[in-house]
Amino acid sequence: MENPDPMSRAAEQEPVGPVPPSAPDVAAPSSPAADAVDGSPQGFDIPVLEPDDDAPRVIQTDEGASDGLAKCSRCGATEISLNVATGNLRCNFCRFEWSAQSAADAFDLNGDIGKLAGVTMGSGSSDIVPSTDEVMTFKCSACGAEVLIDTASSTQARCHWCRNTLSMNQQVPNGAVPDMILPFKVAKETAIASINKFVQKRRFFAHPLFRAEFTPENVMGVYLPYMVVDINAHARLSGEGEHQTRSYTVKVGDSQQTRYDADLYDVVRDFDVHVSDLTVESSSERLDQITSQNANNIINTIMPFDVENAVRYDSNYMKGFTSERRDSNLDELSPIAFTQAEDITRHRVNSTLTFYDRGVRWTQQDVDVRGQRWVSAYLPVWLYSYQQRKSNGSTFLHYVAVNARTGETMGSVPIHQGKLLLVSGGVEVAGIIAAIVLTALGI
Ligand SMILES: [Zn+2]
Ligand SMILES: [Zn+2]
Repeated sequence: MENPDPMSRAAEQEPVGPVPPSAPDVAAPSSPAADAVDGSPQGFDIPVLEPDDDAPRVIQTDEGASDGLAKCSRCGATEISLNVATGNLRCNFCRFEWSAQSAADAFDLNGDIGKLAGVTMGSGSSDIVPSTDEVMTFKCSACGAEVLIDTASSTQARCHWCRNTLSMNQQVPNGAVPDMILPFKVAKETAIASINKFVQKRRFFAHPLFRAEFTPENVMGVYLPYMVVDINAHARLSGEGEHQTRSYTVKVGDSQQTRYDADLYDVVRDFDVHVSDLTVESSSERLDQITSQNANNIINTIMPFDVENAVRYDSNYMKGFTSERRDSNLDELSPIAFTQAEDITRHRVNSTLTFYDRGVRWTQQDVDVRGQRWVSAYLPVWLYSYQQRKSNGSTFLHYVAVNARTGETMGSVPIHQGKLLLVSGGVEVAGIIAAIVLTALGI
């Protein structure tokens, strides 16, 4: 019998590496089988991925970077900011424009994932040293004054005395300076319009206080910290799969019973998994997704970002925006990345098992991570936040978020419960409320 091996469904996180032809499935004689239990291929538990323990290979990503006055190479001014329309840095004095080097080129991030071995990481992804100051002091080289940069929200500050901008581009072990940055591409006016449209659509059910206080102009441009991860893994699974050949009814005593015949196959899947550009949040505040207190999970729904267009970190991209410092290390984030890689592997394997309509039982499952690459990044988001004070005294932080690369918009809006009940009027209350809440979330 031919073994169909449909590889049509792509995994959600492309690209996944090629799945080489597996060992041929061998038909074993069998029949009749027991009553059907479950018609679809069984899911399986992939064992915990076991990464290599070799010392990481570190790519120095801030080589040549300097702190202090970051000057326009043409006129020497420090009034430099991102021109969102072109994606370039622009000197606001002489209008000269330039761009930082592509991070992919600078750090060789486009190399074959299949060749990754052990742990490779950008120097801006290194572990945070808890004693490192959050507020850093720099000496202004124009006037000699001391300038403080609060790295919790920026890597730039203006000298109060001479008005020059001081930038921090060298990495310090507090997570504030990442390996790369993806500049804002969606203009503030576009984000405001998008947030306004999102809220207007849900206006009828929105809480009156929220409607009264809604001021989309207060949107903030925030660079959120992420780890961008590539994983080279290998999976080998073996077990038995059943394919139904016939079903029929037999008379047993006074009752009818349905019987099934099935062929039993040895099933082997042996393949490489190449996961490219997984994005993992690296701020513990964002990782905290307590859905009763905040809407942090909304940020996940405006993914993905075109991280392949990120550039080498340069603080001048931050002017006019705020940022959130990375405060999580690779050790804490690895399980999250590996779980995502496992999901991709599971999805990939299940898509090849549709022939086994009575399920596959795996007797052996081995997945090991052969190589992984971690690069820290700031990704751009327009955030409109709203702190709702509920009648019971608790608070809930609502967001409307705009992916500042794609314009994808998602959010949560406080709901006016009274209006909800009025509309549902007791008819199929639960269903209507569920539908409305989903609509409010924009799902
Ligand atoms: Zn200039
Ligand atoms: Zn100064």
